[in-house]
Amino acid sequence: MRHDDNLTAERPSFVTHLECAMTGERHEADQIHNLSRAGKPLLVRYDLAGVRKALTKGALAARPADLWRYRELLPVRKASDIVSLGEAMTPIIRTPRVAKKLGGGDILVKDEGRLPTGSFKARGLVMAVSMAKALGIKHMAMPTNGNAGAALAAYATHAGIKTTIFCPEDTPEVNVSEIALQGATVYRVNGLIDDCGKIVGEGKAKAGWFDTSTLKEPYRIEGKKTMGLELAEQLGWQVPDAIFYPTGGGTGLIGMWKAFAELEEIGFIGNKRPRMIAVQAAGCAPMVKAFEEGKEHAPRWENAHTIASGIRVPQAVGDFLILRAVRESGGFAIAVEDPAIQSALDEMAREEGLLLCPEGAATYAAYKQSLADGRVSKTDQVVLFNCASGLKYPLPKIERRLDRLKPIDYAGL
Ligand SMILES: *Cc1c(COP(=O)(O)O)cnc(C)c1O
Repeated sequence: MRHDDNLTAERPSFVTHLECAMTGERHEADQIHNLSRAGKPLLVRYDLAGVRKALTKGALAARPADLWRYRELLPVRKASDIVSLGEAMTPIIRTPRVAKKLGGGDILVKDEGRLPTGSFKARGLVMAVSMAKALGIKHMAMPTNGNAGAALAAYATHAGIKTTIFCPEDTPEVNVSEIALQGATVYRVNGLIDDCGKIVGEGKAKAGWFDTSTLKEPYRIEGKKTMGLELAEQLGWQVPDAIFYPTGGGTGLIGMWKAFAELEEIGFIGNKRPRMIAVQAAGCAPMVKAFEEGKEHAPRWENAHTIASGIRVPQAVGDFLILRAVRESGGFAIAVEDPAIQSALDEMAREEGLLLCPEGAATYAAYKQSLADGRVSKTDQVVLFNCASGLKYPLPKIERRLDRLKPIDYAGL
């Protein structure tokens, strides 16, 4: 098969409608939507009985290895609306050395840093921008901690759509640069991501921008859902015992939870579900607090701070969806301190040669913490999400030098 067959193939569309995630109220497909009329995220619904008849595991296996192989479960109706930069399937990497040290559990790292723009935000934004193209949207705006803005900039520019992006003042330099270089107009704002979100909301009202904020746009979840589809397929249509997911706005966790339900409906997996474990940084852990207090919603976390900037999200519109998925799956929410994140990052790089991003390292730190306190066991097969390339973050300076003009003590090097 030619590699772009997934991009050009005829796609019978199975989207039936959109549904308010809180009230279930029906919203029509093929129209521009943000939140539901109740002010909550919208979920895309499909004719899954139709998909069940149309798609077999064998047919899927023969398709090129990218996210578009799952087209029957994706919202884009016309091939010509696809805006692709090459969304390859990401590998699952085993980490036998650290696993052995911890007692022999099966630790799998899904390495999302291989996607365009170096993070899994590409999965969500490729879908949001393709749908924006299909719906004729001309100007997209977004608040971002960095990676989402970079992915939006790349895809929107590729599609010829204008973008305006707002990020907190201390957003990593590389993110601000890549956003600008990929054709967006980017501003640093003296505030956090939710403060940036307010500016986007006002710009939507006053200048007609399309608000591409996390979960205020229905299709990013569909893109992120492919992590769950891909994971199940890669594990031979099995799900792992637990998934450790670095949770900010929660799109990925919510999306994977939706993916497993859809896969069961189309007969590809059984009713086993992984325990969904929401990992947050101790300096910004609204989901952990709400989980522990048994609440359905998570109030804003004040003075949020962590080196894992991708999960520095003080308040999430999809809070109830994250908490539901975590609870229904028998999982939990867990916070890890920044020093534990840093040492997890160092350990995985030094011992496995695997450079994680801080958010990915947070999942490894959380796994170790959960093993130690007995919330997961050594016999559990766990998947850790490394959501971005470690190369997108500041790396430690190394000062070891060699003077080639002096005698070299080779045995001592
Ligand atoms: C956005 C992001 C997250 C959080 O993902 P959500 O699905 O929005 O919770 C985690 N890590 C990195 C690197 C990110 O860019």
